[in-house]
Amino acid sequence: MSYQHQYVDGTRIHFPLGKVVCIGRNYAEHAKELDNPVPTEPLLFIKPGSCVVPLEGGFSIPADRGAVHYEAEIAVLIGKPLSTKPSAEEVLDAISGFAPALDLTLRDKQAELKAKGLPWEVAKSFDGAAVIAPFVSKDNFADLADIPVRLTINGEVRQDGNSNLMLNPIVPMIQYMAGCFSLQAGDVILTGTPAGVGPLNAGDELVLELPGASRFESSVR
Ligand code: ZN
Repeated sequence: MSYQHQYVDGTRIHFPLGKVVCIGRNYAEHAKELDNPVPTEPLLFIKPGSCVVPLEGGFSIPADRGAVHYEAEIAVLIGKPLSTKPSAEEVLDAISGFAPALDLTLRDKQAELKAKGLPWEVAKSFDGAAVIAPFVSKDNFADLADIPVRLTINGEVRQDGNSNLMLNPIVPMIQYMAGCFSLQAGDVILTGTPAGVGPLNAGDELVLELPGASRFESSVR
């Protein structure tokens, strides 16, 4: 299904879908569970817009490319251009909204690439590798340092995180990203995953939520 940014009430957001800028190992407990060192500076990678699919209505995963891991994350929709070290106020002003999202990863492939010191693109940018729910306007979030995110699969809570556990909090993270490359209206930031990642399987029933703000049911086809 083709993807279009929208709010939870179904209103379309008229920014074109841009790139998806991701941060790796932004929660210490998750870095630990994959035996990765905690980075000394933010570890960024980019998923192209072509890999984004909507959460609602179900989504499919590659069947023959090894383990496909879910990573539940807080997605931030950028609504104004940002570049060259914006101030915290400029970043806050540029944020349009928040949604829960899944950063899907071909974990076997990523392990193979990591072992060789190669880029992760193939493991992170396949069609369908970013699953994004509708957004809730920023005005509904009083404190960006206290946004919970939770993923339940087949009735069992697998990930239960909060932005208060991030090594790089949302605003400084986006300041850093915009200092590395320009962000544009319609870009999405995936802010890293808390502990509890694991494989997804066809037929899994998911509940992905920013508790208190939005909740979505979906399934893996
Ligand atoms: Zn991730």
